[in-house]
Amino acid sequence: METHDPIPMSRRDILDFAMLVRRRLGIQDSTTFVDVMTILEHVLDKLYPDFTCDVQTRAEMGHRHGLTYPNKHLILLREDVYDGACMGRGRDRFTVAHEIAHLLMHEGVDPQYARKESGIAVPRYLDPEWQSDAFAGYFLMAPTAIRGMNAYDIANSCGVSFDAARVQLSVTKK
Ligand SMILES: [Zn+2]
Repeated sequence: METHDPIPMSRRDILDFAMLVRRRLGIQDSTTFVDVMTILEHVLDKLYPDFTCDVQTRAEMGHRHGLTYPNKHLILLREDVYDGACMGRGRDRFTVAHEIAHLLMHEGVDPQYARKESGIAVPRYLDPEWQSDAFAGYFLMAPTAIRGMNAYDIANSCGVSFDAARVQLSVTKK
């Protein structure tokens, strides 16, 4: 497959994209709890007929919580992360949203990109990891859904960690 460098995306671009994806999936702007596991297991295969999600052991995944091959439409999740996300654990739900972001945003992006520029810091708007974290934040905690809430409310209603809620609150206020 022909690959290219990541497409630069500002926080605003990512917010707009996350809201577009929410609407396309039938998620209301005011919805707080986004069911990422249903999206992972019953929706993505309608967008990508060859989509696969594989659950891997700790031995196979090592320190990695998840790994996505956007060009192969493949998401790998470590078994404890998969189980945690099924049980609604915030950190693991965020990982799933992060991997979905790679799938939706980084098809065709050169997987070697970050390494190619070794020694030079990749600007964050070009960094697929930063882009996916920003997407996951907006996808799970839409500004329209968390309006007026504090971090505790956000963590409880959106099913995210308190830390993720705090970060999202600070970027949303800007
Ligand atoms: Zn990633």
